[in-house]
Amino acid sequence: MSDMSMLINGLKVTAEKGAYFERRNPLDGTVATRAPAASPADALMAADAAAEAFRTWSETGPSERRMLLLKAADKLEAKLPQFVEAVAAETGATGMWAGFNVMLAAGMIREAASLTTQIAGEVIPSDVPGSLSMGIRQPAGVVLGIAPWNAPIILGVRAIATPLACGNTVILKGSENCPRTHQLIIEAFAEAGFPAGVVNYVTNAPHDAGAVVEAIVSHPAVRRVNFTGSTRVGRLIAQTCAKYLKPAVLELGGKAPLVILDDADIDDAVNAAAFGCFANSGQICMSTERIIVDAKIADEFVRKFAAKAKSLPLGDPRKPEPVVLGSVIGMSTVEHCNALIDDALAKGAKLACGGKADSTLMPATLLDHVTPKMRIYHEETFGPVKAIVRVRGVDEAIACANDNEYGLSAAVFGRDIARAFNVARKIDSGICHVNAPTVHDEAQMPFGGVKGSGMGRFGGRAGVYEFTELRWITVQTTPRHYPF
Ligand code: NAD
Repeated sequence: MSDMSMLINGLKVTAEKGAYFERRNPLDGTVATRAPAASPADALMAADAAAEAFRTWSETGPSERRMLLLKAADKLEAKLPQFVEAVAAETGATGMWAGFNVMLAAGMIREAASLTTQIAGEVIPSDVPGSLSMGIRQPAGVVLGIAPWNAPIILGVRAIATPLACGNTVILKGSENCPRTHQLIIEAFAEAGFPAGVVNYVTNAPHDAGAVVEAIVSHPAVRRVNFTGSTRVGRLIAQTCAKYLKPAVLELGGKAPLVILDDADIDDAVNAAAFGCFANSGQICMSTERIIVDAKIADEFVRKFAAKAKSLPLGDPRKPEPVVLGSVIGMSTVEHCNALIDDALAKGAKLACGGKADSTLMPATLLDHVTPKMRIYHEETFGPVKAIVRVRGVDEAIACANDNEYGLSAAVFGRDIARAFNVARKIDSGICHVNAPTVHDEAQMPFGGVKGSGMGRFGGRAGVYEFTELRWITVQTTPRHYPF
């Protein structure tokens, strides 16, 4: 069990009056972590510290910021064993998932380091004689990052790395489901030598989330908010940000369609579907949630896919034998998925493999012949339970892919690349891959969704646009003419 602290102004601190909350292991209920339960007053101290540190951090040169970020990436990688242990204890995820998280997160910090010299402005032609007119990107201020538990290292790092590269100071609000895992990220940044107050970390008990977030958003020095999590909470945070007129990047839920056209390479599509559906037990925002397959090839695809899904090992990730499916985050996921299975079967869906679970060790489950009248057609499962919808032809496939409130990731399989590409262009999503899985993330790519999946983009230059203030500054170089 880890007893942990927050980080405010470079100091490891507990919460006001020593308040704390516990995170329990989802499999056996043992206490995994005891973490400080910040009050709004604690959160405001973090905002004050970040505001003070912004004065000097925003004036640092790109090389200093780059050097510290590169060190943080190394420190993060060196903590791999602690991450593997914390991720399994707090979220029940596998060692493979923790390792992938550390690798991509370190890459994200290095990408952010490389962005420090790419924060470019422009000179814009002016109609006023002698006016040198510039668009200049400056650090925005204090950035609040709120990250979830499901890809905890990647998303915790994503919430702060590019904002720091741009010269902002940050507050990471950790997830109640993985406070220790998120703290390890902060330790890596602290060990790299970021000055006091530049990187701050706050944890809160679940029932205090709204008050803690609002306290930070309301602080005048906080100029950007980024949130990765559910669409439900994203809407609440958008409302809080609207109240204080703070811009927010919102990376929310998904219901990614994998469209398999009649000319697809079926074996290739099966491998992509298995990876996209069942990596981290389907608890990824880009997880394949709907497989939309042309009826001409559906029987063969479902037979092969079900065989592969059945073969995926499931078990306690803390045991030595490697598993693909570990524990899901909690019984609420099990109950939600079981209800979706009951509903679909009652309305005519066919179980191709798996089934209902009675513990957080959930098997890979496929429901075939899913139709729009079933809940699973529309609702995010965020677990290893997936819907297969059979369609006739390209137009029906596109209509089905778009028949959803979300729009984060998507994929299309087909040997006629031009046809598959044109299908990809017609899908309403921020991200779409041709002949590749819906789950794909790289630090330098513009990552984000449309519709109920949110707004704004992380990754590469898109992140610089989100976390800098674009200002118009002029210098009058010759005497200016005035009308009076
Ligand atoms: P969640 O929305 O339940 O909770 C996440 C955070 O919201 C926590 O930090 C919590 O403290 C905070 N919160 C809760 N109530 C709040 C309130 N009233 N005001 C302010 N903050 C509040 O999400 P989750 O269950 O942790 O994550 C799963 C969801 O995240 C899924 O829907 C998934 O698709 C989505 N997700 C999206 C992306 C992406 O990049 N688009 C990535 C990963 C996960």
